[in-house]
Amino acid sequence: MAENSSSCIACEGNLVLFGRRLDYEYHRCSSCGTIQLLPMPDEADTALSYESEYANVSHYESDPDRCRASAGPYYRAIIRALRDYGVKGKVLDYGTGWGGLLGMLTDNGFECQGVEMSSEMAGYCRELGLPVKQGDIKAVKGERYSAIVLCTVFEHLTDHGRWLSGARQLLENNGLLITLQPTAGFAGLMGRILGLGSLHRPLPQLQQVFCPPWHTAFFSFEGMKILGRRNGFDLLEIRPAPQGRSGGITGIAQRCLEHVNRFGWYLMDVLWPLLIAHTFVLKKVDFPRETSALKPK
Ligand SMILES: [Zn+2]
Repeated sequence: MAENSSSCIACEGNLVLFGRRLDYEYHRCSSCGTIQLLPMPDEADTALSYESEYANVSHYESDPDRCRASAGPYYRAIIRALRDYGVKGKVLDYGTGWGGLLGMLTDNGFECQGVEMSSEMAGYCRELGLPVKQGDIKAVKGERYSAIVLCTVFEHLTDHGRWLSGARQLLENNGLLITLQPTAGFAGLMGRILGLGSLHRPLPQLQQVFCPPWHTAFFSFEGMKILGRRNGFDLLEIRPAPQGRSGGITGIAQRCLEHVNRFGWYLMDVLWPLLIAHTFVLKKVDFPRETSALKPK
């Protein structure tokens, strides 16, 4: 079960109520800025929801073709990162969804395996001939990978530390974890602006950002670095993620924002606040002796 203390899941700092949405509360760490649900949803309940109903909840695109089209820029960004770091061996796509990224990885010559909790989505992928196991990280226990990739999945986990320790066991030495996810900067800024600074006003959904219980945490850069370090990973790089590609007005806004963001990132790098998501590249490292007390339980 996820730990439900009132300290930050990334850095163990103090949490302060940030805002409410539906019957849930998001809290913000006063030390690292990570925004997280408090309490965290129960892991077993969440697993059941993902398995049985996630393919049809409004949070996730229920049409596989539309999903592939809108998330295409994310998939390409992840594949670019794999190439830039020279990944050659087997890749695990964790949280495969309708198989868009897994299909693109295969088309680009990567040997890969997918894992998906939703039985409907996993079944759909298998019908397409994609190698997908239904379940969570335990479904591939004992396997070895050069890299694990997550495309808008890390923000869904309910026990990030335990997941990282499971992921670490699957990776070869120096193996990479590449995760594209919405981050704390944009969520924090927009939550504050659109909530008009009032804790009584519900948080805006912001497209699909504040989506409890599905989105459990928006990590800050500092939060990801500390969380990684505590669980045997070095944060190598933070990349700006592209915008998705929806149709209509949203699509036009996404394209505009992407141009603005390219310029903003060029000028201000990680300080640029209008990026909804970032790609983190982490590397599995040995636990330093002096921090062995911080090893995951
Ligand atoms: Zn924190």
